[in-house]
This record gives sequence, structure tokens and C-alpha cells, in this order.
Amino acid sequence: MAEVLVYVDHVDGAVRKPTLELLALARRIGEPVALALGDKAADTAASLAEHGATRILTHEAAEYADYLVVPKVDALQAAVAAISPAAVLVPSSAEAKEVAARLALRLSSGIITDAIDLEAGDEGPVATQSVFAAAFTTKSRVSRGIPVITVKPNSAAVEAAPAAGTVQALEVSFSAQATGTKVTSRTPRESTGRPELTEAAVVVAGGRGVGGAENFAVIEALADSLGAAVGASRAAVDAGWYPHTNQVGQTGNSVSPQLYIACGISGAIQHRAGMQTSKTIVAVNKDPQAPIFDLVDYGVVGDLFDVVPQLTEHVNIRKGSMAAPDSRR
Ligand code: FAD
Repeated sequence: MAEVLVYVDHVDGAVRKPTLELLALARRIGEPVALALGDKAADTAASLAEHGATRILTHEAAEYADYLVVPKVDALQAAVAAISPAAVLVPSSAEAKEVAARLALRLSSGIITDAIDLEAGDEGPVATQSVFAAAFTTKSRVSRGIPVITVKPNSAAVEAAPAAGTVQALEVSFSAQATGTKVTSRTPRESTGRPELTEAAVVVAGGRGVGGAENFAVIEALADSLGAAVGASRAAVDAGWYPHTNQVGQTGNSVSPQLYIACGISGAIQHRAGMQTSKTIVAVNKDPQAPIFDLVDYGVVGDLFDVVPQLTEHVNIRKGSMAAPDSRR
């Protein structure tokens, strides 16, 4: 069976969920071989093997952390040369997409970005994409070279599929360009304790209807009851109510969670572009004509300050973490 190369996203050896999703997709089209780079790359082995990697290629070098993307492209190219895979799968993060694009250029291969599904085809893997603000769903395949495909988080369920997971050191020689752009400092983002927005299974988002920065506490409370990430519309971000890093939409993050709850968001096309592939969409809006209702699975017409705290309370009750509500509700 043909091998499929999966580029691993990990933090200090802990494999991130989108990579485990890639392994599930890779198994549909061949035998997954994982490539893990940088500090503690070998620590990824147990998790990758548990999720179907038959081989794990590793290379640890300071260059991966000290310089921007080119060392990673060099390593991926070396891995492609070593195993001649049927396809290369890469998570759809901003950095990994740049790595994928550069690799495709070097291989003279076609690239498909932001796939939301992948299946085996007679002439190579067929990728599904959601395009033009999710107005169309397309299926395509790469017609030249080794297909390089980036896949959005939450596009497949993580599946345990124990495999050999043999660890092999990859030989990589860095190109002259590898050390061209050095990382001079790093400032870690303050942790909120919530999941990463682009990877979260549940996202609760607030818009202009939230009415102020302090009112986002209502959105955060619902998010915390559901173990969700918090998103925001551009109107809320531009007003300075929530950080730009949490913006969802055409000029913000693209999310595809199992559940997206839009609170006080009208559903402008630019917002939809970033969330329309969510599996289940719920909206709370006091205007029954709001365009967001055209796209929801469940809609609540009402004031979010009335609806959202009740929802939070009932979620917490279901989780058994609060006393029963009084009989007025
Ligand atoms: P509004 O459109 O003002 O909607 C607020 C909604 O809240 C209304 O429907 C109202 O009925 C409801 N509401 C008010 N009070 C309450 C209440 N108490 N309870 C319940 N409901 C209430 N937007 C993005 O979000 N992401 C992007 O990435 C993005 N990129 C853009 C790129 C370009 C080039 C352009 C031109 C625009 C972009 N926009 C983006 C902006 C977009 O067009 C909209 O202006 C924006 O999405 C509106 O945000 P909103 O829905 O929060 O606000």
C-alpha cells in the first residue's frame, strides 16, 4: 500500500489534535508515515503510533525553532525524497500552509489548501473544499506531481488505530536559504485555559450585539460551561471589545467546530466565510430577520442577555455542577 506523509504539528512532543485527524484521513488513502521535527520530536512517537503511523521520521535541530519556515520545508522535501509518498498531508495552520506551499513549489506539484474532507480516488486523493464563503462545495484532485494537501482542523474524527510506529532518524541537510530569517524574540500568548479557537470542537462567538467589552463575560461563561473557545465578529473586535486573535471570518480565523454558537452576530457574508462549515450552527439574535438565521440549525430569537445566561445555567446543571434552577424558569 502506498505511503502517505503526514506533517506533525506538536508542542514539546505533545501532538496537536489536527495532526491526529490527518492520520485518520491518511489511513483512507494509504499507510501513514509521520514526520516530526524539532525539540522532543521523538516524544511524539507513542501518540502517532496509537493513531495509525506505521513509521515516524524524526529530526531534531535548533534551526526549526530559531529560523522561520525554510528549515521545515527542507526537512519535508528530504522526507518526500526518502519515501516517495502518494500524498503529503499538512494541517491548515498559517505556518504549515506556508510550508506546504513552498514544498509544492519545490516538487513542481499541485497543492490543495483548506480541504474539509479527503477520500481515495482512482487517480489520487480527492479533496473536498468549501469555497466562496462556503457558498459552494468542490471536489478536486491534484493533477501534477505528488499531491500536497492542507486540511482544516475538525475535518475528521480522531481514531485510535494502533500501528507499528517505528521511529527512524531522517537525514536533513539545510539549504542556503534555511537561515535567512532568524527569530529574534518570542512572547508567549497569555493562556486563557480555553481550547485553541481554530481547533476547538465548540466555539461560542459574540458580535456587536454583546454591546461592550465587559459584557463578553456572558459569552465566556457559556464557553467555559461547554469547554469551548471564544470567537468574535469583526465589529466586536474593531470596537476593542475582544482581541483580534479571536476574530472569526474572512479576515480573521477560519473555524469548523462541531458546534458554533453565534450570539448577537448578524451573519454578514464575511463572518460566514469563517464559520459556515461548522457542523451545527446555533444563533441567538433579537432580530428575527437577521441573515444568520438563514444558515442555522437552531435559532433563538431573543435578547442574548436573557437567553445566554439561562443556557449557561442549564448546561452547568446538566454537568451537575450547580443546584437546580428555581421554578420560575
Ligand atoms: P452587526 O452586523 O451590527 O450585527 C449585530 C447583531 O446583533 C444584529 O443582528 C442585532 O440584531 C443583534 N443584536 C443586537 N443586540 C442584541 C441582543 N441584546 N441580543 C441578541 N441580538 C442582538 N466580519 C467578521 O465578523 N469577520 C471578518 O473576518 C470580517 N472581514 C471583513 C472583511 C471585509 C473586506 C469587510 C468589508 C468586512 C468584513 N467583516 C468581517 C465585517 C462584516 O461585513 C460585518 O460588518 C460584521 O461581521 C458585523 O458584525 P456583527 O454581526 O457583530 O454586527
